[in-house]
Amino acid sequence: MITLSVIVPLFNERQSIPELLSELSLALHDRELQELVTHPFSHEIIMVDDGSTDGSADVVKSLTATTPGLKLISFQKNFGKTAALSAGFRAAEGEFVCTIDADLQDDPASIKPLLRKLLEGDDLVSGWKRHRRDPLSKIIPSKLFNTVTRLFTGLRIHDINCGLKVYRSSLSASLELHGDMHRYIPVLAAWRGFKVSEVAVSHRPRKFGTTKYGAGRFLSGLFDFLAVLFITRYFRRPIHFFGMAGLISFLAGFGISLYVTLDKIINSHYISNRPILFLGILLLILGVQLFSTGLLGEMLSISAPTESRFAIKETENLTNQQKQNINS
Ligand code: UDP
Ligand code: MG
Repeated sequence: MITLSVIVPLFNERQSIPELLSELSLALHDRELQELVTHPFSHEIIMVDDGSTDGSADVVKSLTATTPGLKLISFQKNFGKTAALSAGFRAAEGEFVCTIDADLQDDPASIKPLLRKLLEGDDLVSGWKRHRRDPLSKIIPSKLFNTVTRLFTGLRIHDINCGLKVYRSSLSASLELHGDMHRYIPVLAAWRGFKVSEVAVSHRPRKFGTTKYGAGRFLSGLFDFLAVLFITRYFRRPIHFFGMAGLISFLAGFGISLYVTLDKIINSHYISNRPILFLGILLLILGVQLFSTGLLGEMLSISAPTESRFAIKETENLTNQQKQNINS
């Protein structure tokens, strides 16, 4: 059994890899870190090459012979950090899982305090880049992102999207990630009842290469934010969201239509030239559409994988077959 799986998503980080690996090796051979767990410590380093075009994969391959536990997953093309992390989470065999950026901005020496906090009983410990070493154009939007997310989700941590995180594998293996949702992992984990906390970590300026995220990340971040908000509030009951909106719209449309109809019958007023007539019709149709969307959502959520419906903390006296049945 492997104790710790380190997952490194990388996209065109050729220059950083050798230094990262030697720093990682040093950090993982730290006696204090190894003694945090009671059984003999062992590790694997899973590098996920997210379609690099600069030969990063070859650099990793050339280092596998000299680096114990080094493994490589290479994507056909660039699928994004979320996909890279997902692949790593699925491949990981460790009891604990650590993710770290490949660009040397996260310090491998910080893994130890994170793991120590995790072993106090948490399921996910996220790094907090308290003194962030990035350009202001990155720090300010990130502060905004963190504040808004904290406000809307009630999750009380400062730095939701830190690349350096430590998980219990029961959590990491059950995460269903798509889009650019790696930014919201702590939100999704807390929503499913896992214990999430944070520890301040050191952060360094980028040494080689450039950031992979331009201004486009704001837009995709916004959409993923809306998706995460919706998932965490209404995922299990889409009809509650769409049904209510649909009902309000339908009733308003019905009221308006009734009013104009009575107006015609009783007062013999022309109604075909009244804007409110069209509003009434619009709201009626919209109401029905929203309602049907809710029903479709319900059908989809019925067929959703069990992991997204509930998370199990522990079981007692269940056979392996029974455990498998729960999750299948
Ligand atoms: N990354 C990746 N796929 C991508 C973009 C980024 O695997 O499509 C990796 C990248 O190589 C790095 C980490 O994700 O290891 C964080 O990216 P970056 O340092 O560019 O983000 P920043 O620190 O600027 O937010
Ligand atoms: Mg970086």
